Amino acid sequence: MRLTSTRNPALRVSFKEAVLRNLPGPQEGGGLFVPAELSPWADAAELLGLPWAERCTEILGRLLAPEYSRRELAEIVREAFDFPVPLVPLAKNAASTLPPDTPDASGSAQAVATPKEPSPAALAPESDSRLFALELFHGPSLAFKDFGARFLAAVLARLPSRRPRTVLTATSGDTGAAVAAAFWGRPGCRAAVLYPAGRISPLQERQVACLGGNVLALAVEGTFDDCQRLVKACFADPELSAELCLTSANSINVARLLAQVLYYFEAGAQLRRLAPGAGPPVIAVPSGNFGNLCAGLYARELGLPAAGFVAATNANRTVPDYLDGGRYQPRPGIATLSNAMDVGDPSNWERIVHLYGRHRGALRRALRWGSLDDRATVEVLRRLWARGYRADPHGAVACGVLESAVRPGETGIFLATAHPAKFQAVLAAYGLEPPLPPALLALLDRPLHREVLPAGEESLKERLRAG
Ligand SMILES: *Cc1c(COP(=O)(O)O)cnc(C)c1O
Repeated sequence: MRLTSTRNPALRVSFKEAVLRNLPGPQEGGGLFVPAELSPWADAAELLGLPWAERCTEILGRLLAPEYSRRELAEIVREAFDFPVPLVPLAKNAASTLPPDTPDASGSAQAVATPKEPSPAALAPESDSRLFALELFHGPSLAFKDFGARFLAAVLARLPSRRPRTVLTATSGDTGAAVAAAFWGRPGCRAAVLYPAGRISPLQERQVACLGGNVLALAVEGTFDDCQRLVKACFADPELSAELCLTSANSINVARLLAQVLYYFEAGAQLRRLAPGAGPPVIAVPSGNFGNLCAGLYARELGLPAAGFVAATNANRTVPDYLDGGRYQPRPGIATLSNAMDVGDPSNWERIVHLYGRHRGALRRALRWGSLDDRATVEVLRRLWARGYRADPHGAVACGVLESAVRPGETGIFLATAHPAKFQAVLAAYGLEPPLPPALLALLDRPLHREVLPAGEESLKERLRAG
């Protein structure tokens, strides 16, 4: 695969170069690395018949030849994607009665609403049979970030390096947990994870800070924005970058996107088995930085049959407002129940805009969209739990927006991006109590190995140099 830049169509780099460099340099015009060319495979639908690991190897093989051999990719796939990705029908979980606080849905079978005005309560019971959750949270950190982080770790482990590598990441929660788990114990590299002290959940902090070893957990006395600023300052320092062999594991790294393309094909494959008569699905993606949605759109460009893609956000409506006809106006993030999506200036939107030639009209044709505020999110959560499906707040946003965006006769899939237990505290406030899976229970007894760091550039650089 050759990659280009969103801002410089003349630029060409290899996949390996893009992974190591993260971003095109300022002298190259900046922007983000994107595939220079994506054209549909004539046999894309046939790929759905392959088993998971074989299909992942095949897709990556087509994308990454000749840089990687099939044998190398088969090994990477085996190592990185060794957990299940179930597609779960909601109907199976349907209880016979609706929860008391849900209006009787029988009179309001309007499954169609404009994307602008989601009306989650309008879901008719029978429409359940057309809805599925693609569960992406069965990896080690219990969120979909495991796909990108584990793939990146497997790729980096196979790239030669003269010095030990430092993988530097700012996290508001889930990315750090996935990166820490993916790089822990790997020889020749260290993961430095910055998070805002006191502003991530205690469980998320445990996931980052109880591993120790080659995982350096840095609790920054500041906000998530401070963490991102500090990380950027390190990457902008060429001496430090070279000395520490710095790499980013944030979603600007194109390796993460390629890994995420794979489960969209898996959704299509399982849907064919579970609902043979269903047409191509409408897929709803709970979005913050829009990397996940971007990967889905790449899958469609490669030929994955899909009836539509839905950009689902929480109250951070930068993208929905733009698609509704407003100006594209980045703004500070607003805190919501689905905190991994609290992004007011989504970094991967630039890639999506690039894909559709920067025309709002083309973007509006390519997407459906909608948003759910916290009140509506809780409504969806309650309704899903009452029917026996334990969603987390991020999945609930996607489900609620999907219910409004799916048209009669269509089948909908929403991406369940995190295990509900990761958001135990949020859910408990509404009387919903997810059981803790063994992976999280095991963390509770481990001591924390974190270091508190002032939010200054020099203290971070000094700490990183100290080894
Ligand atoms: C990161 C994250 C998202 C948002 O994904 P983007 O690729 O940033 O749009 C959604 N849900 C969960 C649980 C996440 O961790």
